[in-house]
Amino acid sequence: MQDNNLIGAPMLVVGAGIMGVGIAQVAAQAGHSVMLLDARGGAAEAAKAKLAQSLEALVGKGKISAEAATQILARIAPVATVHDASTARLVVEAIVENLDAKRALFQQLESVVGPDCVLATNTSSISVTAIANGLQHPGRLVGMHFFNPVPLMKLVEVVSGLQTDAAVAEAIFALSKHWGKAPVHARSTPGFIVNRIARPYYAESLALLQEQATAPAVLDACWRGAGFRMGPCELMDLIGHDTNFAVTQSVFEANFYDKRYAPSLVQREMVDGGLLGRKSGQGFFSYGPDGAKPAATTFTAPAFPAVRTLCVHGRGAMAERLAAGLATAGQVFARVPDSDWIGLDIDGHHLQLTDGRAASSFGPKTAVFDLTLQAPPGAALAWAPSASASPAWVAQAAQGLQALGFDARQVADTPGLVVARTVAMLINEASDAVHQGVCTAQGADDAMQLGVNYPAGPFQWLAQWGATGVVTLLDHLDAHYRGERYRVSPGLRHRVWQHAA
Ligand code: NAD
Repeated sequence: MQDNNLIGAPMLVVGAGIMGVGIAQVAAQAGHSVMLLDARGGAAEAAKAKLAQSLEALVGKGKISAEAATQILARIAPVATVHDASTARLVVEAIVENLDAKRALFQQLESVVGPDCVLATNTSSISVTAIANGLQHPGRLVGMHFFNPVPLMKLVEVVSGLQTDAAVAEAIFALSKHWGKAPVHARSTPGFIVNRIARPYYAESLALLQEQATAPAVLDACWRGAGFRMGPCELMDLIGHDTNFAVTQSVFEANFYDKRYAPSLVQREMVDGGLLGRKSGQGFFSYGPDGAKPAATTFTAPAFPAVRTLCVHGRGAMAERLAAGLATAGQVFARVPDSDWIGLDIDGHHLQLTDGRAASSFGPKTAVFDLTLQAPPGAALAWAPSASASPAWVAQAAQGLQALGFDARQVADTPGLVVARTVAMLINEASDAVHQGVCTAQGADDAMQLGVNYPAGPFQWLAQWGATGVVTLLDHLDAHYRGERYRVSPGLRHRVWQHAA
């Protein structure tokens, strides 16, 4: 590439669907003249007319000026064939998600555009390396993966294939920044960053449902309690189970059927039955006229149960949160910071933070509770007593958690409960991605916060929790389930060793 600066360069967007129009809008807003091409006759014109309507609505709401809307539209020109686009210095492709179609398009484009024209693909799941195969200049092809809706979502994954020229990736990175986006570099591997690291958010929830651990509404409540805007079940309903299942399946296949990415029978059955989520009116929840969401419940903490002795075990954020809760509740308590578990000893019974072992494995006097990412009051928190616990201890443990400000939700005694096992798996997947050079830790944190609105990134959670705690939990899950799914990433285990050194 002779000149790396793509800012303001004339460009072509191919595919005038939901993504292509969004990309054309953002580029035109940043001052580019944008040619818009679609294989379906009249589709580019229709897409521009639809964009005009939505810009008009934005003008009506005072979000943009009438002048800005006029300028954006004036810069977008529908074209009939690729041959009209010989002046383009950048092409962004957003056509059908099909390798052969994308390859054919780029090969045709190479015979039309100049040698310094950068070719970018918005593919969400196809290998950038594979798309570049057969090009005369494969170094000029790069992934520019936007998120939907393009004008609102900040993240752009800048995906380098095996042959992508580093200068081309840097040029797209700089351009994305200029467009007001937050670009993150990624290596072309299945799912890139977000679609890979996010898999456990869905997979662990579906696994818990398969195990009958609890109901979708309880899972979602626990995640909102952990600071997520949407629980996994309502999110899968929104994405559409067919789409979510297809992405999971493609990541699974692309990883040579690695069990860690295995799709779920629960979701497969929903897809087979046409329970696709919002778009079909029924998923985990109903969205018809009678499908109103249950009203939010208000939380009132009861008094702490009457106890003889109370002791906070362990160190770290969770131990401090428990100590602060007890102090607020006016309780007298001792501390054992050097304990090998974290939680409360209540009259010789243990209410302990899950470490990936079931409460029942400790005998009758134990109950386990979930990882909390947010301070109470009112945050939903999963917990489970031992199967052999006395009814009196079950009642006392529940009241104790509620008195500390948690909206305690009893679930089946499942190892790692809800948030802890999933966050551990998100950290594990992110660690693996970094270990394999897919992205940096900072890139993973940025991508998950900007691409799927997580309240924090996996490496921020890792810093709070500590690698030893995460690995211990995963090893316990691995021992319990005995499969490939919970194996610890070498990258994460290395962190434990580094910490111990
Ligand atoms: P879409 O179906 O809304 O639009 C695709 C458009 O491309 C259609 O208008 C179609 O007529 C046109 N098209 C198909 N083949 C063509 C060809 N050979 N030449 C020219 N035009 C052609 O799809 P979309 O949701 O906008 O997705 C487009 C791409 O963006 C896909 O690769 C998809 O994986 C990716 N993507 C989608 C999302 C999303 O949430 N929808 C997010 C990120 C990336």
